Amino acid sequence: MENIKSITKEDIKEKLLNALKGMYAKELPDATMNQKYEAFSKVIRDYISEGWLETNKQYREKKVKQVYYLSMEFLIGKLLERNLINLGIRELAKEALADMGIDFGEIVEEEPDAGLGNGGLGRLAACFIDSLSSLELPGHGCGIRYKYGLFRQEIKNGYQVEVPDLWLKERYPWEVKKENRGVKVRFGGDAYVATVRGHLKVVHENYYTVKAIPYDIPISGYQNNTVNTLRLWSAEADTDEFDFVNFNSGHYMQSVEGKYTAELISQVLYPDDSTENGKQLRLKQEYFFVSSSLQAIFNYHRELGIDFKRLDDYVAIHINDTHPALAVAEIMRLLIDEEGLKWEEAWEITQKVCAYTNHTIMEEALEKWPIQMFKKLLPRIYLIIEEINRRFCQEVMNKYLNWNVVNRMSIIEEGLVRMANLAIVGSHSVNGVAALHTEILQKKELRDFHEFYPGKLNNKTNGITHRRWLIKSNPALSAMLDTHIGTDWRKDPVSLEKLMEFKEDHSVLKKLAKIKHENKVELARYIKEKNGIEVDPNSIFDVQVKRVHGYKRQLLNCMHILYLYKKLKKDKDFDIHPRTFIFGAKAAPAYYFAKNVIKLINTLGEIINNDPDINDKLKVVFIENYSVSKAEKIIPAADVSEQISTASKEASGTGNMKFMMNGAVTLATLDGANVEIHNLVGDDNIVLFGMTSDEVISLYENFQNDTHKFIESNPEIAELIASFVDGSLGVVGSEFSDICRYLLEENDYFFVLKDFWAYVEAQNKIEELYRDRERWNEMCLVNIAKAGYFSSDNTISKYARDIWDIERESI
Ligand SMILES: *Cc1c(COP(=O)(O)O)cnc(C)c1O
Repeated sequence: MENIKSITKEDIKEKLLNALKGMYAKELPDATMNQKYEAFSKVIRDYISEGWLETNKQYREKKVKQVYYLSMEFLIGKLLERNLINLGIRELAKEALADMGIDFGEIVEEEPDAGLGNGGLGRLAACFIDSLSSLELPGHGCGIRYKYGLFRQEIKNGYQVEVPDLWLKERYPWEVKKENRGVKVRFGGDAYVATVRGHLKVVHENYYTVKAIPYDIPISGYQNNTVNTLRLWSAEADTDEFDFVNFNSGHYMQSVEGKYTAELISQVLYPDDSTENGKQLRLKQEYFFVSSSLQAIFNYHRELGIDFKRLDDYVAIHINDTHPALAVAEIMRLLIDEEGLKWEEAWEITQKVCAYTNHTIMEEALEKWPIQMFKKLLPRIYLIIEEINRRFCQEVMNKYLNWNVVNRMSIIEEGLVRMANLAIVGSHSVNGVAALHTEILQKKELRDFHEFYPGKLNNKTNGITHRRWLIKSNPALSAMLDTHIGTDWRKDPVSLEKLMEFKEDHSVLKKLAKIKHENKVELARYIKEKNGIEVDPNSIFDVQVKRVHGYKRQLLNCMHILYLYKKLKKDKDFDIHPRTFIFGAKAAPAYYFAKNVIKLINTLGEIINNDPDINDKLKVVFIENYSVSKAEKIIPAADVSEQISTASKEASGTGNMKFMMNGAVTLATLDGANVEIHNLVGDDNIVLFGMTSDEVISLYENFQNDTHKFIESNPEIAELIASFVDGSLGVVGSEFSDICRYLLEENDYFFVLKDFWAYVEAQNKIEELYRDRERWNEMCLVNIAKAGYFSSDNTISKYARDIWDIERESI
């Protein structure tokens, strides 16, 4: 592998010893593993710093257009190994550490996962900034430096228990605090229009301010010199405004209260990205990071001396889901209040600068804020949104002469500020995240907007970085690919297609199978160590890892497992290929149904894994605390990728792409990007089942699903459901009451029962295919070969060209 900076082993060793002395005044033998990790990371960060300075210098000098990807979440995972790979020194570093008696694996394990996200949305943002750097595109991430990442999940007696994720307990070696780049964010007070020296002017007064301090993390590109920035903002009390009145009058507590409430803003990540929880703190968080990011961007460009009437030549702002939609109003505020532009000018620029990605069509996930709360917290921003809306509604009225349409499209309606509408109106581009999702947006959810703004709504199918999800997580497969198709795929993942040449090559297929088997052995070892469960690497590893949600239908998977178990109990000769069902999933702490599903999975494991009648034909494993690092261990060992959401509900999915890239066969509904996987690999290399999105949507038109009636004519399903409450799972009858309520009283909103038999049949097909190993291996090969299409490099190239209008800048 090329080592672009001609770094030597001796140099690494010397720098590491120096870092240990400098940081801890310690010699190698006295240093703890964590100190070794921190010192080593510091050494690696210093190698990157050169490129970082150079990148920033060139962007500044050439005034290149840069994109800022605003996202409430960045699920970046560990950075050390990724950075070594990008520098081209992974092997060299391993050797250097080995020379010093340090185990590479142990050092890597010391790094906490920066889990600043819930799931797919945050991981997408992480893949995107990775691709921006590797494609030498000028683009940065902007988000919040949550003191506590998403909770750490422990499983106790089968239940999820949430404990705080203290990822910042030790020093985090990848970040650089930029105190001098801090800005102040205003909250509260009064905003009104007044006449100042004969001119109408907006006054905002009596507000309080919170200090926003940026922490920058370098995002290096793959074997190039580009190093972009992930800027995460931390809230601090504005000590300039320390409350001396209270302090001097002896009210010490009141005077520090300001500090405490200010810091609350960047304390926690809300552990749920699919329901709006109505917390004022969440709105505060959103404005906090949007305002600080944009103020810093404006400060930077003011220093460059640009003409703000041409801001769109220098800046693109991306709004990742509705969380940063306030960017639209904040840009207007900065252009008008600070740069003195007229409304019309400012509006035209804002629309050219902003673009928005819609991630979900689930009604409950659409953010809406009560006017009263909004006005009180952000009075100036509210005035701006009111004016944006007044003008927008006028246009809609002029076109349709119909109040119903105006009400449907209005940004402010029924006492609520609708963030999606604000983002759509304020952006020049609105994109969905998979072909099917975009089609549904155009035809249904955003139909009015699609008609009103022809061409604005476009598709950009999500992607994943093959650097983390193949090069880093599956080194054996990567090496094998190098041998057979050369190394081009590392820089150009679409050329994974070259593997198609070997579709009928027995020796190549055998090698693929061998690598998969070794990855399974490794995962089996991990499961034995962590769960104490013996699993057979020769069994089919059938994996469903993702957040637990009704629509993702882990319950469907569970019911099939229970079905197999009952069948095996009744008929000892029932012939099945041994299966290991592997789950990993966090549930939002207040989502009781989801937590109930976790208990069900663990209960099934407890019963099935220990039942001698089953004779190891079935195993059920729940891997605790699913995260990016866990995903990297699990996915390369999967045979079957469970992507079984209720059709139309999963906007894209990205887990599906990671599995495909590692040669798992997808068992799927025609939902999200599964549709595109199907188009790429063809009928023969995927197993599909269940209702289509059209069928599901038409059932929702007038939702009726009489599960009682369904169960009456399906005694086998009735029996399965009965076992949730009759004690046969070894738990009390009320244990699964949330699941029973969902199935029987809420009429199975996500159609688990309606799709059940189709799913059973699809699982039978998986079994049949797996028994023909040559055929199975061929399917794996085709999946790997076609996975390059889902590289986030591919996705980001399209964003850069179609939405942001930014260009490659070699450093
Ligand atoms: C990729 C990823 C996800 C998204 O998975 P889906 O199956 O698309 O929901 C969630 N969490 C982590 C840690 C991931 O790496």
